[in-house]
Amino acid sequence: MHDVINKHDKIALQFSGGKDSLALLYLMREHWPKLTVYWTDTGDAFPETRELVDKVEAMVPNLVRVNGNQPEVIRVYGIPSDIVPAANTPIGIASRGYGVLMQDRYSCCMRSLMFPMQERMMADGITLVIRGQKNSDKLRSPIKSGHVEDGIEYLFPLEDWDDSDVFNYLTEEEVEHPRFYDHMSASPDCMTCSAYWEDGRGAYLKQFHPEAYQEYQSRLNAISDATQDAIAHFNVEIGE
Ligand code: SF4
Repeated sequence: MHDVINKHDKIALQFSGGKDSLALLYLMREHWPKLTVYWTDTGDAFPETRELVDKVEAMVPNLVRVNGNQPEVIRVYGIPSDIVPAANTPIGIASRGYGVLMQDRYSCCMRSLMFPMQERMMADGITLVIRGQKNSDKLRSPIKSGHVEDGIEYLFPLEDWDDSDVFNYLTEEEVEHPRFYDHMSASPDCMTCSAYWEDGRGAYLKQFHPEAYQEYQSRLNAISDATQDAIAHFNVEIGE
């Protein structure tokens, strides 16, 4: 790892505010002077994540806040959903003349978070990206540590860790883990995200962020209404 880091002058550590990037941050402590922490503010970040980023900013020599654009992305491409009926895509809406515009969650994240981060790192001349990606993650990029693309090398020091390794490491380092993990299975990037249903965001929002909960529920209601026809047709077809 040291050899890889020593080869580069422009290094980004991608920070999300979740447990993995927090553990990564502490694991990389001796290299802080050489690297820049990058965090994308989606424009709909949780206040507890902003607080954590403020703390990190006070600790590390270099931190860049990238402006994400989730509200604008949702305005243009629709609310994110884990199920997107054909009728709620741009063509479906254009042909019927009505409907709630929706996009799949990965497209929303790419547009709101990942592209702005990538563009900023490219503009800054970054040649090494350090990320807290683990092989045990259900959702991860298909690349491995050591991958090089478009002049950027990727380093994943937690690649062989699992979730319990991460929590154990944070405990050993006496670093408080984000509160999300006491209630949810992941650390969410956006307060009003209407996708990633498996994370269990509803109960957390209801308890700690009632206003965002209302918006969340109103988006889920729109998804529920929009998917009913497609699911009813599917249920007739399956098993025929
Ligand atoms: S977390 Fe949800 S709302 Fe935020 S960018 Fe990703 S899909 Fe969109």
